[in-house]
Amino acid sequence: MALRFHNTLTQRLEEFAPADGKTVRMYTCGPTVYSYVHIGNFRTFAFQDILRRTLRARGFLLDHVMNITDVEDKIIRNAMERGLSIQDYTKGYTEAFFQDSATLRLEKAERVVFATEHIPEMVEAVAKLGSSGHTYESDGSTYFRIASFPGYGKLSHTNLGGNVAGARVDVDEYEKDDARDFVLWKGQKTGEPAWDAPMGAGRPGWHIECSVMAMMYLGQTLDIHTGGVDLVFPHHENEIAQSESLTGKPFVRYWLHAEHLMVEGKKMSKSLGNFYTLRDILDRGYAPEAIRFLLTATPYRKQLNFTFDGLDAARSAIERLRSFRWRLLNEKLPAGDNIAMNERAGKAIADFDSSLDDDLNTADALAAVFEFVRDANTAMDAGEFRESNRHAAVELLTSFDEIFKVLEPTAAEGGASDAEIEELVAERNRAKKAKDFGRADSIRKQLLDLGIVLEDSREGTRWKRK
Ligand code: AMP
Ligand code: ZN
Repeated sequence: MALRFHNTLTQRLEEFAPADGKTVRMYTCGPTVYSYVHIGNFRTFAFQDILRRTLRARGFLLDHVMNITDVEDKIIRNAMERGLSIQDYTKGYTEAFFQDSATLRLEKAERVVFATEHIPEMVEAVAKLGSSGHTYESDGSTYFRIASFPGYGKLSHTNLGGNVAGARVDVDEYEKDDARDFVLWKGQKTGEPAWDAPMGAGRPGWHIECSVMAMMYLGQTLDIHTGGVDLVFPHHENEIAQSESLTGKPFVRYWLHAEHLMVEGKKMSKSLGNFYTLRDILDRGYAPEAIRFLLTATPYRKQLNFTFDGLDAARSAIERLRSFRWRLLNEKLPAGDNIAMNERAGKAIADFDSSLDDDLNTADALAAVFEFVRDANTAMDAGEFRESNRHAAVELLTSFDEIFKVLEPTAAEGGASDAEIEELVAERNRAKKAKDFGRADSIRKQLLDLGIVLEDSREGTRWKRK
């Protein structure tokens, strides 16, 4: 079966191919760099990474644009409070986002573009919307009249109820039951940064930024547009209204939205304060691969509840795969072939691929891999996994890791990977068992030099980075 995605616009599962049959032109709303990105945001970016890798594995080329929102209400407020320019204020957060993305093995989009570097194009778009009757001015700001776009509400399936004429919002974010004319260009207020424009000095609203950058690089109709579900309304609804009013063409063929990362039933978010940054988690001794695994193992359209137990389970799942790979590459196996085992591996590869084709069902894809690993381990123990069976099993692990990217341990600062640390901890435990306390102590010191502290308890030894 072919690759299928759930399209928010049509609310249906649809077969996917890029319009030109070859290159997927895709846009992602990147972070608003007013603070550190949290792992909730990274769930959405990790989904996009799985999407990218799956599209490539199906033979497509990618032209993916991600924007960085570096001018917006919260950025301006925070920069002004600290007496900084918006560039100086956002620089560090942007860098941290790139670094954290790399740590999580998220591929960089082919083009990463900054809102503040496209202001003239945004001004031009607002002026063009004005000349075609979609805007009006009030108190020095320019608004988009949603009644001028008959399709308004089609993405979020909002019924406007006809009670919105004339009501406006100036803020970038608002709720669905508050559908109103939205701001395209905000007139300058005292002390705020601003750009000159025929509409008067000011700055772009958040929504026009994405419409302009998406179409400038990818053309009038994109193949895919992604983001978290909280962006469906108003942000993406407004992107459609602006873009389609400008071009008269459909803006996006497939809209894909990731569900939220939750904490105790609530969306992880800055405003609720219930968030962890990537650094918070790494500081607790977890490897980036465990977080990547946790964020991607649940299919993107299901909410995912964040817990440390979940993270521990992700860590052991990766360990299971690594130990199997170790056996596969190192253990001496009886000569010959076991045809049934090759067929078993072939089925696992087919199930893995068809699960991803089914709207990126990562849970089923992982189940295919883990069930195979369980069967192959049992066969190895029984001497029924033969030398010639290695090949198909390696092929499965390779396909798996092209998408999930968790098998190679991340080297810790100072050079020790998680696997190496685990090995040293295990060796110390063996030494203690053998009452070789001198050796156990020297391993503890060696680990300390690598920045690893050990905590012995009745349940065993845990380690963490200092
Ligand atoms: P922002 O920087 O707030 O614009 O968010 C960047 C991306 O993260 C957007 O696609 C959001 O929809 C997404 N996002 C925000 N919070 C969460 C969450 N708790 N879980 C998943 N995605 C989120
Ligand atoms: Zn956007």
